[in-house]
Amino acid sequence: MMTEHTAYLLLGTNLGNRSENLSKATAAIRMFLGRVESQSHIYETEPWGKPHQPNFYNQAIKVVTPCSPLETLHLMKQVEFLLGRDNSEKWAPRVIDIDILFFDELAIESPVLTVPHAHIAQRRFTLDPMSEIAPDLVHPVLNKTIKELADACTDTLAVQMVDVVYQF
Ligand code: AMP
Repeated sequence: MMTEHTAYLLLGTNLGNRSENLSKATAAIRMFLGRVESQSHIYETEPWGKPHQPNFYNQAIKVVTPCSPLETLHLMKQVEFLLGRDNSEKWAPRVIDIDILFFDELAIESPVLTVPHAHIAQRRFTLDPMSEIAPDLVHPVLNKTIKELADACTDTLAVQMVDVVYQF
């Protein structure tokens, strides 16, 4: 039987039609990676790290996949490329950014991949959407649940749920 893995991903976009970018990314993830088992609402968030750029839309999703962590990373880069991501400047506005937040209960520290993602505990734009779909998930390195991390997070940048009317 094929081994299945559970990955939590964070999608982010602050360029162009942000809701459309998120749905395109999710559609591509379904095709390339596997089953999308749950998705948070979309959150509008103030930019982190580099201010004076448009607000982001962020969304967390849970995916079940036969792919390894590195295969997942490479496929996510393909999806970013497909959607028109330009990698020329760090923290600049982007059509789509896909981060691997968690992958099973693994802790990975390699030159190209850190899992769980390095900044989960510091970022409300990650913790709020994750609290919706996996509040009891335990961070395998910090040994705290998402809810505990969200309660302890001191990030004051605005994170607000968006009411999106989907157009099919
Ligand atoms: P970014 O600018 O956020 O797309 O990240 C740039 C690089 O971070 C990628 O090329 C990855 O090799 C590296 N990276 C390390 N850990 C992760 C992770 N957990 N998820 C996504 N990218 C990661």
